Amino acid sequence: MLRLFLLLFCTINYVFVAEAQLAKTEKKLVRSVDQNTEMAIDLLKTVVNINSGTFNLKGVRQVGEIFAREYKDLGFEVQWIPGDAFGRAGHLVATKISSKGPKILLIGHLDTVFEPDSPFQQYEIKDGHMIHGPGALDMKGGDVIMLLALKALKENNLLDKVSVKVFLVGDEELSGNPLELSKKDLVEAGKWADIAIGFEDGDGKLENANISRRGSADWTLKVTGIPAHSSQIFQPEIGAGAIFETARILNEFYKKLGTEVNFTFNPGLISGGNSVSYNVETQKSEAFGKNNIVSKEVIVTGDMRAVSKDQLERTRQIMMEIIRDNYPHTTATLTFGDDGYPPMTMTEGNKQLLAMYSKISEDLDYGPVYPVNPRNSGAADISFVADDVKMAIDGIGMCGTGGHTIEETADLNCLPIEAKRTALLLYRLSLLSEF
Ligand SMILES: [Zn+2]
Repeated sequence: MLRLFLLLFCTINYVFVAEAQLAKTEKKLVRSVDQNTEMAIDLLKTVVNINSGTFNLKGVRQVGEIFAREYKDLGFEVQWIPGDAFGRAGHLVATKISSKGPKILLIGHLDTVFEPDSPFQQYEIKDGHMIHGPGALDMKGGDVIMLLALKALKENNLLDKVSVKVFLVGDEELSGNPLELSKKDLVEAGKWADIAIGFEDGDGKLENANISRRGSADWTLKVTGIPAHSSQIFQPEIGAGAIFETARILNEFYKKLGTEVNFTFNPGLISGGNSVSYNVETQKSEAFGKNNIVSKEVIVTGDMRAVSKDQLERTRQIMMEIIRDNYPHTTATLTFGDDGYPPMTMTEGNKQLLAMYSKISEDLDYGPVYPVNPRNSGAADISFVADDVKMAIDGIGMCGTGGHTIEETADLNCLPIEAKRTALLLYRLSLLSEF
């Protein structure tokens, strides 16, 4: 009984303390979010029901127009960046500049992986609070969360304490070509900003956020040897052949890089023989060879994923050293693709931002927020700006499961929670003296 009493006492005390952590203004922000949640859910339903598969340019624009209207209502200046130059719909940018406070970039995307021919098109409620719908989780839910948070700031006359740029990308799921043009304006927005916040669903859990994401890059290894009759292999004038040399290189990669923390590399395709052809577009390869010919050519293509530019550079150097140490009469070249996604490095600033966000979550009585292991999170749009800002966090959008599948489901109960945490984060960032 005493134990129960103590437990009750502690629980009540905890709730009381948690409530008391909120300043008067913050309580008003919480109330605003609660008052607007129903409107936000209606908006989510509207945008989920509009197909905006990346290649449905009209649909992506249509979703953009709806958000453009909402941001105009909040007093933002709205701009549509056309995507003709990179073969996509384009991006929506909504800006509200203030003379004081930090410059904050909020990142979302308008497109989904579900094109008009997908069987998955409609918003549908399950069990009262779960919604099954294309993009509900990834990431129209996140787009609505940021709007709901900004609306709360606006209603409490707090929007002029920060400068905000909302960047809703139109081609996140499959970036336009060339990538550089598709990401150009986002990169520029990152250069403008002090802080970047991404509303991707992350791992779909309320208690996690991303402050580090791995970047990825492709590589191609080409190896040559001297073709000869197989009976002559290892003779001083013939050497080891291209296939043995490739086996050496890949094995060395494995031995020297396999233990590197949070780093992975993977040979995805290999072809070797007397002659090899490889088509980059179709990723198909053909090889011709014979059992009695020392191999002349090998091609291997693969990717690598690293948590920081530093790690990417360092591992590339190790790979370059390995390919130079050739077996007799073989040569190897290794090239890296330049259109990869950059990593989002776990910086002190990012850790600080997560600590702030986690504290807010606790003050709101939603418990702490932990960093997602970068091993489990791929690149996202925030990776293109993370290097240029002092602080960055991502994955604080909608909760749910099944993203990118027809099982995609989002939890509506998360919507006001995430919006409250975001509103308070923006507010507390506006109070920081360093900006
Ligand atoms: Zn997404």
